[in-house]
Amino acid sequence: MSSQDAQPDSLQRFLLKGAPVRGEIVSLDGAWRQVVERHQLPECVRDCLGELSAAALLLAASLKFDGSLVLQIHGDGPVALLVVECDAVGSFRSTVKIREDATIAEDATLTELVNVNGRGRFVVTLDPRTRTPSRQPYQGIVPFEGRTVADVLEHYMTRSEQVPTRLWLAADGSRAAGLLLQRLPDEGGHASAGSTDPDGWNRLCLLADTVSRDELVALAAPDVLRRLFWQEPLHGFDQRDCRFACRCSRDKVIAMLQMLGREEIESILTERESVEVHCEFCNLAYRFDAVDAARLFVPGAHHTAPDIPQ
Ligand SMILES: [Zn+2]
Repeated sequence: MSSQDAQPDSLQRFLLKGAPVRGEIVSLDGAWRQVVERHQLPECVRDCLGELSAAALLLAASLKFDGSLVLQIHGDGPVALLVVECDAVGSFRSTVKIREDATIAEDATLTELVNVNGRGRFVVTLDPRTRTPSRQPYQGIVPFEGRTVADVLEHYMTRSEQVPTRLWLAADGSRAAGLLLQRLPDEGGHASAGSTDPDGWNRLCLLADTVSRDELVALAAPDVLRRLFWQEPLHGFDQRDCRFACRCSRDKVIAMLQMLGREEIESILTERESVEVHCEFCNLAYRFDAVDAARLFVPGAHHTAPDIPQ
């Protein structure tokens, strides 16, 4: 298949018959290009962000969790932050912060981008949609470990979830894709009585190791599964759509400006005609001229100025 053919933005889950092994494959096409078009990124940075986006959707789909999952790589190199937010039903948004005056080699590795002095961090945040005393946000922070986004995630999953998890990720300017395999915990910590395929986990991982990044990103998800696992009894397929969706709004920006306070806003307006806030995820610009700004501090005022897509 040519890499120009449009494919659905989707995530598919599957099981291996007779073995406590589950898998997921995600393929982002138009949804990933919506991220690419909103940021001017060096290719190596863009591809890492694509891999992290695919990984976030895979992880979110593997959790029994209603809320948002945020994956962040905090870097000590030219890239200060890679961040992806997504929910369990396939909406995501992604962005990058590059340090001012940073120089980035065309073929820089992830380590060269975010772990130059060994102070990179990987942060996972789970924020439940509704908070209760037993359902509070969770944050896990681990040192940056590994050479690729997949390595970093695998290390995290091994440390925190103690569920053996493998990931294969790839991205370019058109697509982002990922495959996840997970060995489900056996009942009581022993080989599950119902398991008739004790070697299933190792076999699927060996097969998945034969996929190249080019194949993963260029082939449609069903073709990747056929290419890798054509002899394997996969079943239990279910599919969901994925989409780029930003959660910014003029109301949220207004609340932020109100927090800054009237004095701060007035001081900005002595230097320029309007206060402008850019959403770092979708690049939408929210502008407030002197009249809009004055209304920020009038109780009950309506704020109706249009937002300007960049
Ligand atoms: Zn936005």
